Amino acid sequence: MNLMQLRKTISLDDYASFAHLTRAVQELRAEAKMLVPRLKGRRVLMVNSTAQGGGVAEMIPMQILLLRELGLNANWAVIGSDKPEFFKLTKRLHNLIHGEGDPHLSAADKALYDEVSRQNADQLRPHLKPEDVLITHDPQPLGAGALLRKEIKLRAVWRCHIGLDEHPAATRAAWMFLKPYAEPFDHAVFSAPEYIPDFLAGRATLIHPAIDPLSHKNRELHPHKLAGILSNSGMTESDAPVLTSPFPAKVQRLQPDGSFGPANQPDEIGLLYRPVITQVSRWDRLKGFRPLMDGFARFKGCPSGSPNHARHNRRREIVRLVLAGPDPQSIKDDPEGREVLEELRQYYLTLPAACQRDIVLLTLPMESRKHNALMVNALQRCSVVVAQNSLREGFGLTATEAMWKAVPVLGTSACGLRQQIRDGVDGRLVNDPNNPDEIASVLDEMLQRPQELERCGRNAQLRVHSEFLIFTQLSRWLRLLAKVVSC
Ligand code: UDP
Repeated sequence: MNLMQLRKTISLDDYASFAHLTRAVQELRAEAKMLVPRLKGRRVLMVNSTAQGGGVAEMIPMQILLLRELGLNANWAVIGSDKPEFFKLTKRLHNLIHGEGDPHLSAADKALYDEVSRQNADQLRPHLKPEDVLITHDPQPLGAGALLRKEIKLRAVWRCHIGLDEHPAATRAAWMFLKPYAEPFDHAVFSAPEYIPDFLAGRATLIHPAIDPLSHKNRELHPHKLAGILSNSGMTESDAPVLTSPFPAKVQRLQPDGSFGPANQPDEIGLLYRPVITQVSRWDRLKGFRPLMDGFARFKGCPSGSPNHARHNRRREIVRLVLAGPDPQSIKDDPEGREVLEELRQYYLTLPAACQRDIVLLTLPMESRKHNALMVNALQRCSVVVAQNSLREGFGLTATEAMWKAVPVLGTSACGLRQQIRDGVDGRLVNDPNNPDEIASVLDEMLQRPQELERCGRNAQLRVHSEFLIFTQLSRWLRLLAKVVSC
């Protein structure tokens, strides 16, 4: 278990000094003035299982820092285990909740989950007192949280970031497994009402995930800064002078021979010149990378015969698909990542040469959170469309991040994406992310109409502004914490 050290780099005053954020900060402060005194003397400890990679690790640090600034004693702990089987099991539970995988969970699975939960509870216990509030994120630390809730009698909230709006056998099996661990909790938090299992109804709250508008992932990048990041990370080749030094770890690109090499080989990606469609995600089958490749290939392969479509045909000719994800070695609680990347690599090698040229698969180094965030920011801003072709999606911060940058998103009907994107208003949704024809046709419609893209992008940005910024999220958390300690 690691108690994470966080360094404050930005204050609420800094946010408030941006005119478009002033009101949101004022509202949060007003809420805190009323609610924080009710939490006096209590420590709030957030616990998850990874310090980086994925949406949860993305959100926690700034939440903690801002809660501290608002007067709360807030901390972040990351649990671990020397048993890789534990993370395999929790990944399986993650997939099962999303309706995928073999629903048979054995007594040995339960014994393993109990054993690691016990170890983690023992490590967390010295940091907690009965008046404290424990917030555990997702299934990995749930069991430890349940033990601590029973043993210390503190208040405990389970923040579940995953869910499905249907109830197939797989999902039911995962909930059967998790139910005894979730039950002792005082309250649960979900990202969509559809995700709340029956046994938690009445003590579950909806809080949408949110982004930090001034983080390295989301802050504004002027063209020279953006070009500098592309150059520093090896995504462009340039002799032009840039402000900052090359990043120590560079982006790697899948080469036609199946190896990973420099991102500007075998040719320049064209991020600053070509229309680019990008999907940035963890390497996870449910993110729909492979059907997205197929949909893109199909879109490229069917030019319109009409001379009126000369411009569009040219766009189709030069457009590229960029698929980016973390260097898989860096994600501890995601044992599937390497496997999925390998599947995509194998699949890429079967594609015709022309397709290989236009599909760019990148792995982004994670050694530096800042550099990784800047790379993602730059990639999203270079994109004419950001795709998130998820088969299932708890929420999908990658969509939120693109929307904030006024980049229209090609999403799917996965529940988390539906919470954010209104089809035709803020972006587009494909009904079936496994259907390459549908993906190709929606891509075709989107790229044909640049004005529509611009309209959707602007709408999307406004939607994030009103619904999915960190200030709204923290107000909701404060309300919930005050309620939980008053019961
Ligand atoms: N992400 C990243 N680097 C990568 C891939 C993903 O920083 O190489 C970030 C991405 O920008 C987003 C988060 O990881 O902030 C993914 O969150 P999301 O909610 O989209 O999906 P999750 O991974 O939680 O299923």
